[in-house]
Amino acid sequence: MKVTGIGLCMLRVPLRTPFRTALRTVDAVHDVVVRIRTGTGQVGHGSAAATPPITGETHASIVAAIGQHIAPALVGEPFDDLPRLAARVQGATARNTSAKAAVDMALHDLAAQRAGVPLVRLLGGAAPAVLATDLTISVDGIDTMAADADAAVARGFASLKVKLGREPALDIARVRAVHEAVAGRATLRLDPNQGWDAAHAIEVMRALERAGIVPELLEQPVPAHDLDGLAHVARSVAVPVMADESVFDPAQALEVARRGAVSILNIKLMKAGGIGAALRIADIAAAHGLRCMMGCMLESSIGVAAAAHVAAARGDVIAYVDLDGPSLATFDPVEGGTRFDGPAIRIPDAPGLGIAAIGGLEPLPGA
Ligand code: MG
Repeated sequence: MKVTGIGLCMLRVPLRTPFRTALRTVDAVHDVVVRIRTGTGQVGHGSAAATPPITGETHASIVAAIGQHIAPALVGEPFDDLPRLAARVQGATARNTSAKAAVDMALHDLAAQRAGVPLVRLLGGAAPAVLATDLTISVDGIDTMAADADAAVARGFASLKVKLGREPALDIARVRAVHEAVAGRATLRLDPNQGWDAAHAIEVMRALERAGIVPELLEQPVPAHDLDGLAHVARSVAVPVMADESVFDPAQALEVARRGAVSILNIKLMKAGGIGAALRIADIAAAHGLRCMMGCMLESSIGVAAAAHVAAARGDVIAYVDLDGPSLATFDPVEGGTRFDGPAIRIPDAPGLGIAAIGGLEPLPGA
């Protein structure tokens, strides 16, 4: 069995409501879908989200990285040894982590199909498995965020990821309104997406503390490069602080872990560049007594399913699940495999990612 071809196409799914963070606003999941073919008829699936403000990647750069560098490193290769093939993906080009992650998850899907086991079992976990994800509340006007939080709790979400902005005073009012709307029915995870500096972060958290509001965690309050600021915030506030944009890969995970103070690392396949690096970050966290969140970009249920298999396999250290891309979308185009049902993510005992069909695939622009 050889890799005979790597096909690329696009998948677009409108969102229920626009997704707004301190970095961007988008109204649809719009991913590059990867299909790795082999002589046997088995197909491995993956997807890549373009998140220019975070990874620097666009649809065009993802397509170019895969088409010009990663695919030539795989096509014609025997599908013998997953680590060997995964290393060829990583060595094909520098950076381009989302492009690499899409191909890497497709290789893992195929390897698990060949082994006749769900991906989670290939990674050492058990299936079937059920995870509970939080839901993102986009940064918006105070009343809108309170209403969105109330609606999320009504859909059964017991944890909300509250996106915040660049204005600390307004952010305090936003959290107070969401806290009041939720009325103890869900925990709050705060994510200003690098929008504050260390002094503002400490000021906001102290103000919330005085108001009797105790969030479950505070995610990436300061710019990604400000590791000293991140540690300073983490030492100064009672709430556990999580690194997201500061940690893409295992080397950065080790750097943040060695500085101490931060309690949680947010792992995303689109940042790590694949499942192998994601697992190494989990290992580094475990070795330093930290915990992890499994997160996602705003991305399709293909990539989020792969992330769910990783989270289920490493429940020893991945204590927080933020895999809400499919829950924010108007429908799930994927038939078979992981089911996204409100907060519940159900991984069946089916080989690989279990994907039977994907509806609505479109050709690449200009193809
Ligand atoms: Mg984040």
